[in-house]
Amino acid sequence: MADHYEVLGVSRDASAEEIKRAYRKLARKLHPDVNPAPEAGDRFKEVTRAYEVLSDEGKRRNYDATGHENGTGGMGGFGGGDFGGFQDIFETFFGGGGGMGGGMGGGGRGPASRSRRGQDALITARIDLVDAVFGVDKTIEVDTAVVCPECNGSCCQPGTHPETCTICHGQGAVRRPVRSILGTVMAAETCSACQGYGTVIPDPCRECSGQGRVRDRTSLTIKIPAGVATGTRIQLAGRGEAGPGGGPNGDLYVEIDVRPHDVFVRDGDDLLATMSVPMTAAALGTTLTLDTFDGEQEVPVRAGAQSGEVQVLKDLGVGRLRGSGRGDLKVTLRVETPTRLDDEQRRLLEELAVARGEETVHGTTEHRGLFSKLRDNLKNL
Ligand SMILES: [Zn+2]
Ligand SMILES: [Zn+2]
Repeated sequence: MADHYEVLGVSRDASAEEIKRAYRKLARKLHPDVNPAPEAGDRFKEVTRAYEVLSDEGKRRNYDATGHENGTGGMGGFGGGDFGGFQDIFETFFGGGGGMGGGMGGGGRGPASRSRRGQDALITARIDLVDAVFGVDKTIEVDTAVVCPECNGSCCQPGTHPETCTICHGQGAVRRPVRSILGTVMAAETCSACQGYGTVIPDPCRECSGQGRVRDRTSLTIKIPAGVATGTRIQLAGRGEAGPGGGPNGDLYVEIDVRPHDVFVRDGDDLLATMSVPMTAAALGTTLTLDTFDGEQEVPVRAGAQSGEVQVLKDLGVGRLRGSGRGDLKVTLRVETPTRLDDEQRRLLEELAVARGEETVHGTTEHRGLFSKLRDNLKNL
């Protein structure tokens, strides 16, 4: 490989300013936009590579010491390829040059496509708890963009076609002279006549104003699996908005919102319910009936059941979103102590208390006395 100093035509002790000047002079002569000869392009790359190394203090020191660009051997480490370096340096000279970016960069990208992917859409589906338990097919209305039925996404009034842009000849970009530090060079910029598409649509579709898509309300049946919960998102690939210019659809996300239920509360894959049982029934034992999502179910209450006890009805919970089977239905018993007793009921309960050898409570006086005693004890603490 040629010596970088020789390539730039400078001495080995050239100053940074001299190196810069030499590069500019050569670049003006060899830049592909100024000099179309293929050998000039190769020379330009060589000159640029030399400048890239010699303009960087660290790289230059390394090169002086080893004769290589990276000190490990030859070409191996020359970063991101020829054009990366070239582009960087070129833009430095232009001062960042946003305007010339595209066309120069990849050596001519060609015209842009009118087609773009449509946006993803998010909608909410409100379902009942029973639908989360078993899953459901739900039909929902979606307000979205669909391919224009008139032009089928071509953006052209039916019977007409896009025409090649006469300004950029289908390139999507025009080159125009730009004064720069390198002198006057030709810089590419997006063709304003066709917005860079390379074609113009002489007669845009009147249905969609040349967009290739229209807004529409469509109804859509989605399969909601058992086990979903509020916040679960279901992704429907390709069911989002149609893209402009006949581009592919985005995705549709359906977010689930489960309405609260009067009786059942969700706890993971389980359902929870609370049932009241009269004190006497809890003492004697009974069977309650609960109206579940699987019809009426018997809930056994053992004799002597306590408030807070849980009866588990296996496999009557929510279907599992991942995996098979269902959770359980857990019924918590709440033993109700009678509140308003008539004389006869009170007498019977007092008899029961006596029969059971429990502390008897005669009338309200002693009752009050017990509370005062408690209060006194608390004060003494
Ligand atoms: Zn149309
Ligand atoms: Zn054009």
